[in-house]
Amino acid sequence: MTGGMAPSIEIESIGGSLAGDVQARSGTSPMSCFQCAKCSSGCPVAARADIKPHELVRMVQMDQREAVLSSRFIWECTSCQTCATRCPQNVSVAGMNDALRAMSRAAAAPAPSTVPAFTEVFLDAVRNRGRVSELALMIRYKLRTGRFFEDADKAPVMLKKGKLPLFGTQVGGKSERKALFARAAKGGAK
Ligand code: SF4
Ligand code: SF4
Repeated sequence: MTGGMAPSIEIESIGGSLAGDVQARSGTSPMSCFQCAKCSSGCPVAARADIKPHELVRMVQMDQREAVLSSRFIWECTSCQTCATRCPQNVSVAGMNDALRAMSRAAAAPAPSTVPAFTEVFLDAVRNRGRVSELALMIRYKLRTGRFFEDADKAPVMLKKGKLPLFGTQVGGKSERKALFARAAKGGAK
């Protein structure tokens, strides 16, 4: 250090392996966050989440891998990008959550939310038929989660309004969809 110059802190070089892993996967730098909480004040799910966006970033900075990967919030984030547009430090909690969901699945962390189950049955329908049959989706989701009676009161109204057709439709392009899913599984690489 030369005389009179304040030492500079390279914030990218501090933090644990979780922050590094998230940055490598998402391209956003959790260590740049200075905890202003602007992300949380605009987040539409923060009020009901188990962790608020700025708290998640702090936990990543503190290397709390297990708690982060098994949190409900990473699954309930809607990817609306509000946090990313509000952040003065260019941190994207939305991007971090995309990375953390993939890391959570890879680590087989317990999922304290039914969102992963719903996502799986939804994507299975898209992969196999190219269309989603609401009735089949609902049955598979309920079998997967055991939540048989949740929202059961809505079924008669939906049936009456023709929102739950008994037979789903199917579209062509199965091989293209298969290739698309294979490419997505490789992180988008061709
Ligand atoms: S808005 Fe950005 S800097 Fe502020 S707490 Fe959220 S992530 Fe951190
Ligand atoms: S992208 Fe997720 S974390 Fe960010 S504001 Fe939207 S719901 Fe909240």
